[in-house]
Amino acid sequence: MAKKQFKAESKKLMDMMINSIYTHKEIFLRELISNASDAIDKLYFKSLTDDSIKLTKDDYLIKISADKPNRTLTIEDNGIGMTRQELEQNLGTIAKSGSLDFKSENKSDDVNIIGQFGVGFYSAFMVADNVTVKSRAYGADEAYRWNASGVDGYTIEPCIKDDNGTKIILHIKEDAEGEDYSQYLDQYTIQSLVKKYSDFIRYPIKMMWKTSKKKEDSDEYEDVFEERTLNSMIPLWKKQKSEITKEEYDNFYMDQYQDYEEPLTTIHTKVDGTAQYTSLLFVPKHAPYDFYSKNYEKGLQLYSSGVMIMEKCADLLPDYFSFVKGLVDSEDLSLNISREMLQHDRQLKIIAKNIEKKIKEELLKIQKNDREAYEEFYKNFGTQLKFGIYEEYGIHKDSLEDLIMFVSSNEMKPVTLAEYVDRMKEDQNTIYYAVGETAEKINMMPMSESMKAKGYEILYLTENVDEFALQVLGTYKEKTFTNIANEKLDLDSDEEKEELEKFNSENSGLLEKMKTALGASVEAVKFTNKLTSHPVCLSSDGALSVGMEKVLNQMPMGGDAKANVVLEINKNHPIAEKLKKLAEEDSDKLTDYTKILYAQARLIEGLSVENPTELSNLICNLMI
Ligand code: ADP
Repeated sequence: MAKKQFKAESKKLMDMMINSIYTHKEIFLRELISNASDAIDKLYFKSLTDDSIKLTKDDYLIKISADKPNRTLTIEDNGIGMTRQELEQNLGTIAKSGSLDFKSENKSDDVNIIGQFGVGFYSAFMVADNVTVKSRAYGADEAYRWNASGVDGYTIEPCIKDDNGTKIILHIKEDAEGEDYSQYLDQYTIQSLVKKYSDFIRYPIKMMWKTSKKKEDSDEYEDVFEERTLNSMIPLWKKQKSEITKEEYDNFYMDQYQDYEEPLTTIHTKVDGTAQYTSLLFVPKHAPYDFYSKNYEKGLQLYSSGVMIMEKCADLLPDYFSFVKGLVDSEDLSLNISREMLQHDRQLKIIAKNIEKKIKEELLKIQKNDREAYEEFYKNFGTQLKFGIYEEYGIHKDSLEDLIMFVSSNEMKPVTLAEYVDRMKEDQNTIYYAVGETAEKINMMPMSESMKAKGYEILYLTENVDEFALQVLGTYKEKTFTNIANEKLDLDSDEEKEELEKFNSENSGLLEKMKTALGASVEAVKFTNKLTSHPVCLSSDGALSVGMEKVLNQMPMGGDAKANVVLEINKNHPIAEKLKKLAEEDSDKLTDYTKILYAQARLIEGLSVENPTELSNLICNLMI
């Protein structure tokens, strides 16, 4: 029979599997059992709304059998099955193309790919040199047999199979140096793998178990077979917390939510209140691979008395906690509840509120008790939390304000708002922050230096959302937030203010000329006493800061946000004298110098220069 070709990506993946150096080849069994369980789930879900399906929950099962002499291992389910077309599509083309990146040709990459994503069906080729899949779709009259030995293609032909479902027959590889493939034909190995990876599969995984029994009236022994169910099927979350080890939680998480690393934290709660439910939640250590893509769907699995009724219930998680994985099991929910009904379900709303509170408490606990872990968590998901504050005009800010952090001038380490407020100077009534590309750059900005010199701590905001989030927050523990680049920064004594005002009005002619030189780019030009060693800085007058202007103008719909920019000149810097002199002697030069100073101030802020060619010419003129 002519062989059909695999799609290029499948071929690569298969090649990787066949030549795999992965040390946990045993996971192939978990993958195949999961597929079988999914196939049964599909039929089971269908039966909930389709009365013609007469199967009851007890009819479903997965069967494993091993044939040592023929070196075959068979995994069989009575789930939804596959049509000819589905066999082609599902097993000839890779289903996970989104998760696989084949850019690298590095052989050892299979370790990463398997570790991170699992590889589903194709993992069979890590242990088998020939794979046969016989499948009959539910309700179909005919069955088909798919077969492949390697990357050179596969065959599909009609076959006989009496019942719906799928039977996967692996011809196990011969043992090779350092590779014991025969173990996968051994009943004890199979049993322990099922226990390890698939114990909570909701359907019985059965196997004919061989024991030796002494024959009656004789000294000889004979093989006796009895059917055994290998998995306990008791969902982990139904057990008592005290009976569950950390390893069990971790394995459950990694297996269920396809992660290669154990979770940062596990939250297992049983609630007997107005809403009765059990929830088992996990905060991952890192962002899921598709977290920042639009394919990522938040949500928790929803169970009703141990039976899954929804794979991803989005209503159970607020967007800002969308990284949380896990499940909720409640007896109060009906099995056939529809998505629409769920949205209005009062129980579900109460559960969602409780869950949100619980997650916050748990995160605060980690923040307090394991700072390093929290900082790592925050690196991954902090942006999400800040967006949470900003969204919907801040209605969620109470849940989130204690969780956010910013790097501070104090030790260049992330600090919480509470920590900042706790060590504020006695007379300080506002939280100071500055905006820029990186904390290091902000730390060197003229204004930061002078604020630090005065003994103030500054929060360094480096992400686009940061300043918007603080503005929405408005206050924290009754302290307002102030951008140190705001022109109205009020740190001076009355005396100092008076003196500065006088200085500015004495030089109003000069400032007016400078303002004219810059045209609409700035709102005003002023002398300041807040800088120490630097000649100039930019500030803004009003709620919209220079940083926010930059962010807004980068947005696809934005473009004409305009901060009221003020160019401030250090009145104690030699440049002040120079400018005064030029105002009297050489207006043209004053114009040029003003433009250069303004460009410098923009560069220091991390902004682009408005007219680089002009600037370059101006500087060149100074040189020649
Ligand atoms: P995944 O399970 O992640 O989608 P796989 O490569 O394991 O990827 O399987 C590809 C597809 O083949 C599945 O999505 C499913 O549609 C189908 N499939 C695999 N095993 C079975 C099975 N035992 N019964 C029915 N369909 C199956």
